[in-house]
Amino acid sequence: MAGFQLKMATQHGEKIAEQFGFTQFPVDPRAIAEARDITLQAKPADVHGVSGAIVFAADSATIIYSTEYNNEGFENFSIAHELGHWFLPGHPEEIIKSGGAHMSRANFTQNTSIELEADHFASGLLLPSGFTRKLLSNNQIGLDGILKLAETARCSVTAAAIRAAECSAYPVAIIVSKGDEIAYAFTSESFKNLGKLAFLRKGAPLPQSATRRFNADAANVLRAERAVGETDLATWFDGSGRIVLDEEIIGLGKYGYTLTVLTGEQLPEDPFDEEDEDAELEKSWTPRFAYGR
Ligand SMILES: [Zn+2]
Repeated sequence: MAGFQLKMATQHGEKIAEQFGFTQFPVDPRAIAEARDITLQAKPADVHGVSGAIVFAADSATIIYSTEYNNEGFENFSIAHELGHWFLPGHPEEIIKSGGAHMSRANFTQNTSIELEADHFASGLLLPSGFTRKLLSNNQIGLDGILKLAETARCSVTAAAIRAAECSAYPVAIIVSKGDEIAYAFTSESFKNLGKLAFLRKGAPLPQSATRRFNADAANVLRAERAVGETDLATWFDGSGRIVLDEEIIGLGKYGYTLTVLTGEQLPEDPFDEEDEDAELEKSWTPRFAYGR
């Protein structure tokens, strides 16, 4: 999946938030659905394994969203993901072609193109970059800032964490894990500049770390416990330098995953902090030629 396409999906979400008149957090995906005469329906409690669905009818659609985690942020993310299938170019056509109903597994755990695009749309819709940067700059760097972002934007903690990594000028890496495996990871541009970093693949083993010890007791995850540790760049990103990092950990409750935030107080700030959106977009589709890649 091309990064450019995902970036476009995020920007499409931001544009829809703006079109519907949202100028500050929270962006309400229910109001957007209502304005488009899309029916919202909570998913029956006994249906597991999907986060939601969208069913297209003649001129409208029904969105079915998950309430199983009993978490408003996750519900909003689930609704926003389905709205992505409504608003993103090509999605309705693809879904209608295959029968008109689509089951989703939202929140960045899937690799198929329309699921990832819808996740990025949802993230742009609920967390427009302007609002996100402003909130992050007024709050603590690291897990506290991410939790504040999720609370203010009323979105899932994982979406807030990913968006914080995308929008932060400061070096930050976020890792979502389950048991002793990595589910996915995102790093901010400035974090990538800390060294030659290995890519953390889905399914790769967690390194020996506070996160791995935390996950060894499933109750920590379920009870949404928090923990902190000290680690370094080399432990997580094989082959990179010994830069000391703070490791902040939180269990994501019934969702069953753990979020780890790696950052540090003495890391170099990003000199390209003030870079505008157009320049960033250009950078994303300009081929990068580098030795050793
Ligand atoms: Zn979907």
